[in-house]
Parts: sequence; C-alpha cells; structure tokens
Amino acid sequence: MALYAAAAAVLEGVESRQGSIKGLVYGSRFQNVKQLYALVCETQRYSAVLDAVIASAGLLRAEKKLRPHVAKVLVYELLLGRGFRGGGGRWKPLLARHQARLKAELARLKVHRGVSRNEDLLEVGSRPGPALQVPRFVRVNALKTCIDDVIDYFKRQGFSYEGRASSLEDLRSLKGKHFLLDPLLPELLVFPAHTDLHEHPLYQAGHLILQDKASCLPAMLLAPPPGSHVIDACAAPGNKTSHLAALLKNQGKIFAFDLDEKRLASMATLLARAGVSCCELAEKDFLAVSPSDQRYRQVQYILLDPSCSGSGMLTRQLEEPGAGAPSKKRLHALAGFQQRALCHALAFPSLRRLVYSTCSLCQEENEDVVQDALQKSPGTFRLVPVLPSWPHRGLGTFPGAEHCLRASPETTLTGGFFIAVLEREEVSSSVSQTEALGPELTPSPAPKRKQQQRKLAAGASTPPCT
Ligand code: SAM
Repeated sequence: MALYAAAAAVLEGVESRQGSIKGLVYGSRFQNVKQLYALVCETQRYSAVLDAVIASAGLLRAEKKLRPHVAKVLVYELLLGRGFRGGGGRWKPLLARHQARLKAELARLKVHRGVSRNEDLLEVGSRPGPALQVPRFVRVNALKTCIDDVIDYFKRQGFSYEGRASSLEDLRSLKGKHFLLDPLLPELLVFPAHTDLHEHPLYQAGHLILQDKASCLPAMLLAPPPGSHVIDACAAPGNKTSHLAALLKNQGKIFAFDLDEKRLASMATLLARAGVSCCELAEKDFLAVSPSDQRYRQVQYILLDPSCSGSGMLTRQLEEPGAGAPSKKRLHALAGFQQRALCHALAFPSLRRLVYSTCSLCQEENEDVVQDALQKSPGTFRLVPVLPSWPHRGLGTFPGAEHCLRASPETTLTGGFFIAVLEREEVSSSVSQTEALGPELTPSPAPKRKQQQRKLAAGASTPPCT
C-alpha cells in the first residue's frame, strides 16, 4: 500500500537527516499528508519498542527482502495501530506469517518491563502529553450536508451520539465510539482523540472537514452574512475559506489570495470537494493587492491568517515535544510581515470587521501585532470583546488585550491559537454584529430534525446528502 511505502521513506529520510518529518511528508508525493504525518509520528514515537520487537521476533532475518523501515511501519500498524488499512494489500500475508511471534514478543516486553499498556513502554518524554489528548474535531460542511444527517450516519455505523457537550470535561472524557456536539460551535462534532476519519466516506466526499476547534473560530467570529464580499488574505490550504463559504451559503464572494503555488493547488482540490463555488482564488502577494481596486470596493470582511511560527501547532508539539520556539531572527521577520499585512488589510475602505489569527503562541506574533496596528490607526478600529466565556484570553500586554482569544491543549483542548476581532469604530458605536453573536454561541439545544430529512445509509460509498 502506498501509504506504508511513503511512511517508510519519510522515516528513512529523517534517520539520515534529510529533513524534518513535516518537511519530508510535504515533500513526498503522497496525497493525504495528514494521514501520512500521523502514521510517521506514531511509528517514530514507538521506534525503540518496534526495533526491540522486530529484532527479537527475527522478522528481518526471516524476510530478507523486507526493508527495515517498511517493517517498522507495518509492525506498528499490526501491533499498536488499528490494523492494516485498506486490507493491507501484499503486506498482509507476509506479516500474517509472523503475527503470532510479533505479538508474543510485544507481550514478553511488557512483562519484562512490568507494564500492561502499550503506552507505558514509551520513554517518559514520549508519553502522551496534553497535545495527544486533544479530541478529534469534525466540522460538518453545511454546503453539502447537515448536522442531523451526519449524526444519523455515524449512529448507523455503530457510533453512539451523546448530545451536546456541556463542558470541556465532557470532551476530555470521550472514549471509544462515542461522539458529541461541541458546546460552543453549532456544526462541530467531537470524537475521542486519535479517531482517524481520513478514510471516512463523508470526509472523502467533502461532507466533513477535519478541522481543529480553534481553527474554526476565525471564520465563525468574522461571521460574514450571505451575499457579502470577503477577503481571505493568506488562504491556503483553505479550511477557513471553505468555512467562510459555508457561512456565506455560497452567496457573495470570497477573494482568496496566497503566494504558494503548491498550497493553492491543494486548496483548489479542497474547495472543489467541499462544494465551494463563491471563491476566486489568486496566486498573489496580499501586500500587492490594492485596497483602492474597484473589485474590492464591497469588501466588508477580511480574514487574515498569515504565515506564522506555528509554535502552537499540535503536529509540531507531537513531532518535537517541548520544541517550537522560533529563533529571535525568524520571529522578527514573521512579526514584520504580520504587522504589514494587518495594516494593509485595515486600509480596505469598506472594511467593517477583520479577524486576525495565528497558530503561534508568541506574543510578538499576536498581541504585539494587534497593538501595533491599533496604534497606527488610532480611533479607526477597535478590538471587539468576543466569547466572554472563553477561558483563555490574550496576554494583558495593553489595555483591551483581554478581548483577544488564546487557545491551547491544556486550557481549551485544542491546538495553540490566537484570535483578535477588530471592527471599524463607526460600526462598533452602533451595535456590534460580532458582539451580538455572543448569545448565539452559548450552549443551545441540540439541533432539531429537519423537515425533509435526507437519510444517509451508513456504509454507502457516496453519501447522498448533497
Ligand atoms: N488560512 C489558511 C487555512 O486555514 O487553511 C492557512 C494559512 S497559513 C497559516 C498562511 C498562508 O499564508 C500560507 O499558505 C502562505 O503561503 C501564505 N502567505 C505568506 N505570505 C503571503 C503573502 N504575502 N500573500 C499571500 N499569502 C501569503
């Protein structure tokens, strides 16, 4: 199976110092980078255990043609993962010959070390930290389906729906085949950590978007009404763009910019799969997009999610626990771009509301950028207080910074994130639409059945709800 060969190649590249896991995964030709990345990280985490089991079972001695990195990935899947995907192809019969011995060696290792769980075989530093306990958030794509249909589909697949969560504790204690509706976001389902839905037919058909909860907040807080014109300034790979399109109900226009050709290509695929038809994609430097261009005269909403250090990214925390602090030089360069991009965005004449977000934990890329922009346009824009019940706020580095939101595995069970909502003063002095969003985002009853409910047959290869 191509996945296993690709994972083995990445592991081999990392070992011979050709690059980081992330770099090699993105550089590989394997399409589903998330799936590949997860498999490589997990295999890597258990590397020492796998080496021990493979050696004591004599696998490589018996199977001379089996390459060590392929063996490692396959044994991970067999013993520690969820079993072979897609039936396992040609590897299944080969590994089947050694399965009993490999299992026995793993059991022996556990007895020897006096532990009962696989996890306890790991070195202390590689045991699951908060990042590994973050639930799997699944955004239901309203352009293609509805929440009731998706819930039905999962129920028919043997999942048990527990209703709307009332606290983070409910999310933290999710296990097995149980799932919930998020307490805050109306179209977000929550599954236990490590639930892998990359091969799920609803994901493949664009009905589900696998998107962390924190990353769903920017579009939700921008809340452009259907028909409006929106700029997504740094848009690829496009999860937030597809969320914006869903909020717009595909009515209106999204001008989406990005510099990176490859990322734009995967974005085009993502948007097509998600049924987005209101987006104009352009390979362009956002800083070179003129605010006075007549095409953008109706743009009242801007999402600015610029390149950042990514220090809050879960994947980074999994790959290099404790790492993620960028060098001063890199931070300075990133913050410089972020400040320019934010000031540039605020220059669009019809702009009413802007959401600035990063997946960075660094003050220099977050509160400092927002403070700089507010200082450069005094009296024009203000920070809007949003989601008063959100537990993790901006660092108190300037008056009003507490209106910003932060997120982390420890405090919000999400990736590390920062969000600021800015509104033009004249809008804010009447009734702020964003603030008016507040009550809607407090827990409300679970979704009602739609009148004309379209049933999804669990197991159908093409989900009919389109
Ligand atoms: N908003 C995206 C999403 O949710 O999928 C993620 C955006 S990512 C954090 C930042 C993006 O900004 C990268 O794809 C990068 O190529 C792009 N970028 C960097 N500099 C840019 C510029 N000057 N103009 C437009 N895009 C830029």
